[in-house]
Amino acid sequence: MPGALSVRIREACDRFQALYGSAPRVLARAPARVELLGNHTDYNGGLVMAAAIDRETIIVGGPSPERVARVASAHFDGVDEFGLGAIEAGPRSSWTTYVRGVCWAMAATCGGFEGGFNAFVIGDVPLGAGLSSSASLQSALGAFLLSLGVIRPPAGDEYPGLRTDAGRFALARVLNRSENEFVGVGSGLLDQVSCLFGRKDHAVYLDCSTYETRRIPLGEVALVVCDSRTSRRLADGMYDIRRGECEAGLDRLRQLTGRGAERLSEFRLEELSAHREEPETARWKRARHVLSENDRVQRGAHALEAGDLATFGRLMSESHASSREDFENSSQALDLLIESARESPGFIGGKLSGAGWAGCTINLVRADLAEPFAESVKARYNQASGLDPLVHVCRTAEGASAIEL
Ligand code: ADP
Ligand code: MG
Repeated sequence: MPGALSVRIREACDRFQALYGSAPRVLARAPARVELLGNHTDYNGGLVMAAAIDRETIIVGGPSPERVARVASAHFDGVDEFGLGAIEAGPRSSWTTYVRGVCWAMAATCGGFEGGFNAFVIGDVPLGAGLSSSASLQSALGAFLLSLGVIRPPAGDEYPGLRTDAGRFALARVLNRSENEFVGVGSGLLDQVSCLFGRKDHAVYLDCSTYETRRIPLGEVALVVCDSRTSRRLADGMYDIRRGECEAGLDRLRQLTGRGAERLSEFRLEELSAHREEPETARWKRARHVLSENDRVQRGAHALEAGDLATFGRLMSESHASSREDFENSSQALDLLIESARESPGFIGGKLSGAGWAGCTINLVRADLAEPFAESVKARYNQASGLDPLVHVCRTAEGASAIEL
């Protein structure tokens, strides 16, 4: 157990003891994730690739006799207490909505709670920075509840579990349902799949139409996240506009080809090219981005399987260019971060990640040059903009797990 991690676990156990008057019985953890390739492809039924990273959410806890949950987090004050019979949303925009949502969805899928639990949450995933602290929290909690045995799913591949990939996939779907229906965030499945399927030195591949999930060797690289610290608020409105434009692109392709496809990703890039619109419309450019991204994910998967990291990195950089030109979800700050990265030591490839317009870039960097890379990006970005980006140097990590203490 690395030093920093064991210190954090000790702190979690001490704080649990101080709050609830007993020692915790189960420790669960789940990583955060970064998106590697496949930007805005998820809701178009396309292909995506991500990796679990060594920033994680840790939950320690134990059972309680009443069907009541008590949860606290090192990030927030107070203890939230709620009944596990009919689970209610609780105060609006409270962090525990995520916790209550997982309990709600697990109970709905697996049968109700047997008794209750006390828990304490701690971790080093930055909240709201695009590393999916929310899916990390959800996955750690899912692992915690299953391991503690307060939720006992029936046997079968369609039910959540940690022992098999089928069980992990079922858990990802439950957690995603909780985020969509209980928290009210319309996100895709990749975040939860990455936090549950991640593996050291591997990427996670997901086909959002067939739900095929694979782990692909990535090797020992650094994954460096550069946070522009520009406001992500703009992304909300623009995200919906882009979804609408993708719908319009799909409608147009249906008309042109006479095919009743349900998702944009059912079309191939060549079909789109055969029906070029002059001058290029927004819907056409958005569709070209999505279909070329699917292509890049596929080629990226093949490159990694052949041990060709350089090609994978180039595809990431091509993805950024496609975001900038065709999907128009980059920004001056994100472009500047990528330019700064390109001129820094150890750079293999990089792109914006998440919705875009603000937020973070993700860079694939030679492991032995990660620190000089980070220093160089900070200095170059600062020189050009006067602003200081936040840079997180990460490695790949294992998906969610739990142990008895
Ligand atoms: P992201 O997933 O990109 O980090 P979100 O807004 O989707 O950003 O999720 C962040 C929210 O998840 C936080 O505001 C909080 O409600 C919840 N959360 C994540 N990690 C923790 C934690 N360690 N403790 C408490 N709440 C957390
Ligand atoms: Mg999130």
